[in-house]
Amino acid sequence: MSDCRAEVVCLASWNADLICRVARPLQRGETVMGRDFRVAPGGKGSNAAIACARQGARTALLARIGADDFGRMALALWDAEGIDRRAVEVVTGEPSGVAQILVYDDGDNSIAVASGANAGLGPAHVDAAADLLRGARVVVTSCEVPLAATLAAFRLARAAGVTTLLNPAPAPAQPLPAELIALTDLLTPNETELRALADEPAGGDPALAAQRLQAAGAGAIVVTRGAAGWTLFEPGRAPVHGSGHRVPVSDTIGAGDTFTGALAAALARGEPMQEALRQANAAAALSVTGAGALGGMPDVDAVKRLLV
Ligand code: ATP
Repeated sequence: MSDCRAEVVCLASWNADLICRVARPLQRGETVMGRDFRVAPGGKGSNAAIACARQGARTALLARIGADDFGRMALALWDAEGIDRRAVEVVTGEPSGVAQILVYDDGDNSIAVASGANAGLGPAHVDAAADLLRGARVVVTSCEVPLAATLAAFRLARAAGVTTLLNPAPAPAQPLPAELIALTDLLTPNETELRALADEPAGGDPALAAQRLQAAGAGAIVVTRGAAGWTLFEPGRAPVHGSGHRVPVSDTIGAGDTFTGALAAALARGEPMQEALRQANAAAALSVTGAGALGGMPDVDAVKRLLV
């Protein structure tokens, strides 16, 4: 682990994904035999931090995990990825976050997340890591992190001139506070999350949703569109579209997290927005070619090879 300042700080959730395959959704009270059980690393923040580190950015985490086997799994993973985890709090008496995932034979799934220690990340952790945050170029977070922590971090980042990047996933049940929207330099929703943020009906125009958020003070908005790529909405400019890459798909778990992490890394090394998006789009495309969130997540050379 380097003593140099982190270029990207991720306010992160960590979940151990407990994955079991079953034929079909269960009835209430039903027990069935499952198969192919595995435990995989997850949590949007952790995934994005790993994507960012694999793209060569010095990356640090601000997170909370339990002093349990899943917490130790996180620490070993982050160390192997070269991520600075000195601002990670390991708490006794609270479990690490877990996501129980049932994958059905038709490929669909159901997920129940127990946030555990993630839920305790708050403004005090942000204050304790103030120097780390002020020294970064980009601060990244998602809606898996408690709102109060995100607000505290973005206030601090804005005052220090650090770029703020919010992946508003999972789609928030309540509209985000106006102050948070105004403090966000860059939002990376998918189309569903964009509409939820702007309170637009399903099928509504994404451009209108983006305009509404920008009238409320949001900066750039990059809408991720799965295999179709991305669209950038910047205040006062015509939208710009980037096509997706044609790749063999294994699964799309973590595609949005990879996009966000790779985008943060590219912006932190000073790439202009559209070049940063080109790189993020390539990194996310490669991520869907491997199993799970991390299986296909590329390093910087793999992204360069796809883009030549
Ligand atoms: P997830 O929730 O699965 O992490 P998401 O809904 O947040 O994903 P998506 O818009 O599905 O995000 O995908 C994010 C990015 O990943 C896309 O903008 C694109 O760059 C890439 N991507 C996703 N699916 C594909 C695909 N099938 N082929 C190529 N690129 C893809």
